[in-house]
Amino acid sequence: MQRFELAQWRRGPQLSDLRESVMALVKAGRRRTALDVVLRHLRQDPESTDGLFVALVALEGSRTALLECPEPPTDGQRASALLAPLATECSACHAMWYSQHTVLVSHGSTEINVSNPIGLQCGTCRYTLCRNCLSTSDTGSYTEDVDTPHTVRGYCENCRQQLTTPVLSTGRHDVQPIHPDTIEGVVVVRDGLIRPAMDEVLPVVMKFLPLVADDAPLLHVGRGTPGMMGDEATRDQLAQSLLLELELEGTLAPGAWVRSRRMFVLAGAANDTDYLVTVVTRKQGAADTEPGGVPGMRTYTFLLQVLAKNGVWSTVRDPHTGRTPDGGIGAVAAPEEMLPDIAEEVMERFSGFPLKRRVVFFEGDRTQGKLTTDDVHGVVTEGTGTFTRGLS
Ligand SMILES: [Zn+2]
Ligand SMILES: [Zn+2]
Repeated sequence: MQRFELAQWRRGPQLSDLRESVMALVKAGRRRTALDVVLRHLRQDPESTDGLFVALVALEGSRTALLECPEPPTDGQRASALLAPLATECSACHAMWYSQHTVLVSHGSTEINVSNPIGLQCGTCRYTLCRNCLSTSDTGSYTEDVDTPHTVRGYCENCRQQLTTPVLSTGRHDVQPIHPDTIEGVVVVRDGLIRPAMDEVLPVVMKFLPLVADDAPLLHVGRGTPGMMGDEATRDQLAQSLLLELELEGTLAPGAWVRSRRMFVLAGAANDTDYLVTVVTRKQGAADTEPGGVPGMRTYTFLLQVLAKNGVWSTVRDPHTGRTPDGGIGAVAAPEEMLPDIAEEVMERFSGFPLKRRVVFFEGDRTQGKLTTDDVHGVVTEGTGTFTRGLS
């Protein structure tokens, strides 16, 4: 989920136990514990709209009010990547805050009058400016009386309309949605010779990846090599060698480099110095969802076959290259219900064939691997429009 939409929550507020226990903690001022509960819940179900909504409630209140409560939320909690869908970010300077307007709107406020808003937003495209950027973009006239009440105004760069309230979630530009269950491991190196401790590394990782402190066993802290953090090529080299070490130890499955994504976290965003965070996703087919996928979405490899004259289903091959022609094999990410439609589309590409067609599906991206009939996940035969499990 890139950003939280109230409409989704309205469709399914579950008024769950989670909601009740979190609300009780918030009422008692125990915001830190409340957020710990919510973050654990979101770690299991990052798309939980109930979880996201109560998180927003737990973050509610002015900075002073929050600091005065018995257990204020911690900076680490506020920065958690699991809360990224709730965040509002300034389109100009990336300043981030949690706008409570979503909560107000959910309570039925149609008009939100905030005397001193943290920011303003375009009602069409959610282009947002924070208070600082609004005041610098303000083109107040020089001839204006100094006593004229100062109204901050801003205009959307895309739509040219005036920015207003409510200010809703935009998501964070520096957090890519990835399902925590697809993460096989995270390799972290800090610039410099001293290997950082786990409690230094955890906040950096949790800021950019949807993990919680319980996930510490997934983290591997590597030793930096002087001069390796300078540019992308040497950083890649460093990451590659660390991954290889972990593969040789058996900590990561082979081929981790291909499944990895490097994030270079500059000092400022991190605590003290630069970090290189390499996240490795599980081998495809090993988890129920793909990175960034919607639950129920899986990757499938499709393969077109035709019923040969001898009554045997055969894979179509190009007589020159011996390979399956373009469009006859490929990988798609889709929920299982979509497979009949996908099969139709594939068969349609080969409608010129005078033979009966079918499409067999394999789990995961197997386009580069060997496909055997034992591994077939299911099949859609021409004219049936239905998916049958296994090879019938
Ligand atoms: Zn700004
Ligand atoms: Zn706009």
